[in-house]
Amino acid sequence: VAESKRLTARSLDDIPPAYFQFKDFPEYKEYTTMQWYCQKQSFPQSLFQPHAGASDANVTIHGREFVNFSTYNYLALGSDERVKNAAIEAVRTFGAGTGSGRSITGEIDLHSAFEREICDVLGTEDAVLSVGGYSTNAFTIGYLCRNQDLILYDELIHNSALIGCKMTGSRRFSFPHNDYDALTQLLDQHRGNFERVLILAEGVYSMDGDIPDVPKLVEIKDKYKALLMVDEAHSMGVIGPRGLGVCDYFGIDGKQIDILYGSLSKAFGTCGGYVAGPSPLIAILKHYAPGVLLYGASPTPANAAAALESLRIMREQPDRARRLQDNAAYFIQQAQTAGLDTYRSKDSGVVPIMMRDSELALWLSMKLWENGICSYPMMHPIVPRDKTRLRFFINVNHTHEQINQTIDLIGDLLKVAPKSKGLF
Ligand code: PMP
Repeated sequence: VAESKRLTARSLDDIPPAYFQFKDFPEYKEYTTMQWYCQKQSFPQSLFQPHAGASDANVTIHGREFVNFSTYNYLALGSDERVKNAAIEAVRTFGAGTGSGRSITGEIDLHSAFEREICDVLGTEDAVLSVGGYSTNAFTIGYLCRNQDLILYDELIHNSALIGCKMTGSRRFSFPHNDYDALTQLLDQHRGNFERVLILAEGVYSMDGDIPDVPKLVEIKDKYKALLMVDEAHSMGVIGPRGLGVCDYFGIDGKQIDILYGSLSKAFGTCGGYVAGPSPLIAILKHYAPGVLLYGASPTPANAAAALESLRIMREQPDRARRLQDNAAYFIQQAQTAGLDTYRSKDSGVVPIMMRDSELALWLSMKLWENGICSYPMMHPIVPRDKTRLRFFINVNHTHEQINQTIDLIGDLLKVAPKSKGLF
């Protein structure tokens, strides 16, 4: 803490409640202002509401069916009978959990079967399956970089990567979104002064729904002897002619990317994470990286079996991803025709509709909810206030009729939206 910012309490009586009572934390005040606003507007309660049955293109909440634009279950594999049966069978065979970490009797053949199959898809030498999507990303970055290293990351990378960066103690710079000249300049300036240099990008950016120029990133990282890590949370299963992620989309070999990370909670329809790459990388992660495998339990039999079955279905039925891509293109086309701003979204399953005002975004989301449509506002601190939007996850099972109704309703609602008071 900078000396000038240190608290200078002379006695314990001088310590303000804001430092020891949660109700006086500014974060809590922001939250209560929002609650007050929602109550004043008689908004329905839409957060933390349990759903019945599966959540894909439709979801049932408190007995009411919604058109669902807020599930990452892009390909509806989480609710596919084959995937569910694979998970059930794995529980019958191995039980509900594995009982320990992978290295000490927590290993089951489903873990390595998934790893072999993802390598086969991506063309990588090896892979490691791990228990959490968020944690795998954070701990992989967190372990691989050290004090003497440099991390250069796209300004829009996910929070899990940012937290991973914080763990490292490395020097870090963000570069403007997809700005490869800025990245190159940073490398020109700093490459020689750091040992490992890690460049972080996403296959599909989770807020904007756009795809970076991965071949360009590969060219840059090769030139500067840096390492490239691509987060495939929203690209694997979704983009490319066969739906198999950035390598499929750009027609490149997975061996060209040093670290391919993926989450299993999106197109795979289950939960967990994986990292794929060269054998030495995977050996390092498996044996030394806390939070990837070490000091934690292994993925449950149900998660591993579901991930493996989903991957097999993705490979056998590329038309699923193509149907999803067609739905996303249709959504964007209809939205733009209606004069809505879909920002940078292209070729992915994530489509923002920009509001650029938190009150308006919240109001619109609530009105959609009242009309049986789920789409949540992305507001500060997730995005800057002037980039507030409603985010739509497109699903393979959405119908054109559902998309048309949604876009028409948004157009009608925006005509009668109350003026924002800029409260939050
Ligand atoms: N990376 C990105 C880009 C994400 O959007 C997310 C979650 N939304 C994660 C990583 C973390 O994955 P999980 O939700 O499976 O923990």
